[in-house]
Amino acid sequence: MPHSLKLLPWYLENKRVLPWRKNRDPYPIWISEIMLQQTTVKAVIPYFNNFMERFPSVQDLAKAPESEVLEKWTGLGYYSRARNIHKAAKALASMSQFPNSYLELQELPGLGPYTSRAISSQAFGEQVGVVDGNVIRVYSRLNNDFELWWNRAAQIKIQTWANKQVHGVNPSDMNQALMELGSTVCTPKSPQCFLCPLQKECLAFKNKTQKELPIKKPKKEFQTWSWQALIYIKNKKIFLTRDHEAPFLKKQYCLPGQSKRLKDKPLKFDFKHSITCYKIFGSSRKVNSAPKAKGIWVLPTDVSKHAPFSLIQKTLQSLEL
Ligand code: SF4
Repeated sequence: MPHSLKLLPWYLENKRVLPWRKNRDPYPIWISEIMLQQTTVKAVIPYFNNFMERFPSVQDLAKAPESEVLEKWTGLGYYSRARNIHKAAKALASMSQFPNSYLELQELPGLGPYTSRAISSQAFGEQVGVVDGNVIRVYSRLNNDFELWWNRAAQIKIQTWANKQVHGVNPSDMNQALMELGSTVCTPKSPQCFLCPLQKECLAFKNKTQKELPIKKPKKEFQTWSWQALIYIKNKKIFLTRDHEAPFLKKQYCLPGQSKRLKDKPLKFDFKHSITCYKIFGSSRKVNSAPKAKGIWVLPTDVSKHAPFSLIQKTLQSLEL
């Protein structure tokens, strides 16, 4: 029996009311999908509402300066995603219509296999399955599949399975139903199998292997770094530069300073912060001399427009700036 027979009625009855589910407009679907790659639905809602209020259409986003887009992204992290959204909006603004297939959507900056399929199936009804972490978990458990899901062959197998699930049904609803089941019932640590509409078909439930699946992907090793930021102040303005060696803010505006990879956590530091695989132990001090690097001088209130990173905010806060 296809899973859709039980899963779709469950989804239509239980789906959460979310601001990007109001209609099938590809723009809010796209923005929400990118934001959801980095945090939970609950955390994304205020960022999404704020972003859409400032940039209500693709044209508004395309016309805005990059610094303002980054500012609205502050707190979400992964700023390259915000930059790609802005680049893609500029490309879209020059097109006569929003691309409506996942193959065309994948041509836009920042849109990968998952996002392009999520947009095309939800906004345009393309018959393609989507595969995110929730779908991988549901797939692995339903099929009691202990394969290393991150390998290429397994990814193709899961994509083929997801495509089969949307066959002959509404692909938008079915894709969202699988993801909703994964995020609300078939959760990573405590799957609520007693609430699951697919319990009878689930091989992991039958074999009591739910908590072993999916197989855990080996974690990327964390690196420990010290970062000593120098705060140059002139005429009440703060100096920012792209001319720095800090690997965690590559090519971005940042406070000047020194960074160094460490074996262990240092004994002394003013604040700590994590960016992707970097654990950063920071300290900062004000400097009166002139900076040697090239850069820009900005008012403290404008720092987040050029360097919208929590690390910079924490650094300035540590000196009460
Ligand atoms: Fe997940 Fe349990 Fe449902 Fe199986 S029965 S799909 S493990 S929630």
